[in-house]
Amino acid sequence: MQKPHITLLLSLVVGCLMSHFANSPDISRALELLQTAFPLPASSPAYDQQAAQTILEETAVRLHENYPYHHPFYLGQMLKPPHPLAREAYHLAMYLNPNNHALDGGRASSVMEKECVAQLAQMFGWSTHLGHLTSGGTFANLEALWVCREIAPGKVVLASQQAHYTHARITAVLGIPFRSVPGDSQGCMDVTVLEHELKKGDVGAVVVTLGTTAAGTLDPLPAILELREKYGFRVHVDAAYGGYFTLASKLQPHVRAAYDALSQVDSIVIDPHKHGLQPYGCGCVLFRDPSVGRFYRHDSPYTYFSSEELHLGEISLECSRPGASAVALWATMQLLPVVKAGVFAQSLDACLQAAQTLLQYLRSTRCFVPILEPSLDIVIWTVQANSASEASAFAKRFFDVAAQHDIHLALASFPRKMVEPCGAIKVWDAEQVTCLRSCLMKPEHLTWMPEITKRIGEALREMQT
Ligand SMILES: *Cc1c(COP(=O)(O)O)cnc(C)c1O
Repeated sequence: MQKPHITLLLSLVVGCLMSHFANSPDISRALELLQTAFPLPASSPAYDQQAAQTILEETAVRLHENYPYHHPFYLGQMLKPPHPLAREAYHLAMYLNPNNHALDGGRASSVMEKECVAQLAQMFGWSTHLGHLTSGGTFANLEALWVCREIAPGKVVLASQQAHYTHARITAVLGIPFRSVPGDSQGCMDVTVLEHELKKGDVGAVVVTLGTTAAGTLDPLPAILELREKYGFRVHVDAAYGGYFTLASKLQPHVRAAYDALSQVDSIVIDPHKHGLQPYGCGCVLFRDPSVGRFYRHDSPYTYFSSEELHLGEISLECSRPGASAVALWATMQLLPVVKAGVFAQSLDACLQAAQTLLQYLRSTRCFVPILEPSLDIVIWTVQANSASEASAFAKRFFDVAAQHDIHLALASFPRKMVEPCGAIKVWDAEQVTCLRSCLMKPEHLTWMPEITKRIGEALREMQT
């Protein structure tokens, strides 16, 4: 793994880095307030503080081995740091470590979780819902597909080839028969093929991805909902990465139409730990029909003593869950409500604009060729090459050379069908091409785009000489 040139990077953009680490809200006053209700006993368990300090410092050094995910020059995988407020709210909750399994374990944080989840449901146009936070998108999808199985046992679940790889695994775990539907040249589910699958008469649910992880493409939800009228199946939307973009103001018409149809689907997954500025460990599953709660029914002999109100553990497959995740999300959503035209929505617009800026730059190089018009904030591109294998080799080398210029990209493999239309490749000696991929998930990318493109250009010139 290429080690990032932190030193060079630090010397060049120290102001930017400092702002990332220094602009946290002050936790000390909040801690004092917490302790007015929960004074700590004088005799907290003793430990060797000097040793702990040394280990903490060693830990910081060990973390150098990461790529600089928080930095605007990191535009590789779907990673970004939590909002400073989320980080400090999580930290604050760590003094109590609430467990949102049951109200006994997380009284305040369970209420905060319900408020956040209701606001996310409202963002999708739902006034009633059932839902909760999960450890992540994978587990949230598992719960949604489990409900599909309980409603239509033995029936098939379909997802597109560009759907997240975990759907095939989750359905295997749940014993659900699974088939994948080939995508079209745009990386979206092909509705003609979908209808062909539906005619077989064994389909119980279709997973619709709004924002595929690799390419940021969206399955055509309105057309899929029309097919539901005819064939009758559950529609589960995996919006783990793309869900928040429903708030964006500048979407292409087919993208806007997909989000506008969300109120009609049966279940939705969204990951606050992707675009929602949260630490990992924060996914969310939402069901439009609250009565699916009946499938979760169980008798736990020891957890539900404190009140008649709903314990989140009664509607979650996971038992212990971090109350701190709910606290962090709640605090973030107080500061940055998930509403159209708000500050949070504008930050998503900035990500979309950064993607467009990168797209234009790539086109101007005459060497790089974007394979798709980005629908969200992911850009994927290949290079002019004699063959598919040469294009893949170039992308892999460029990944390393760009990292030497402190620009951190990602690689992703795409089928010939998606790459061929861009016309960059002459001879098809392979059916898959490794492409360069960028997730422009941090609004700061936009401000830094002149420097980012300058460095990409320098790396490209280095490759060409
Ligand atoms: C990230 C992602 C997942 C998996 O979610 P985790 O939070 O990583 O478990 C599922 N589907 C899509 C579309 C994703 O982008």
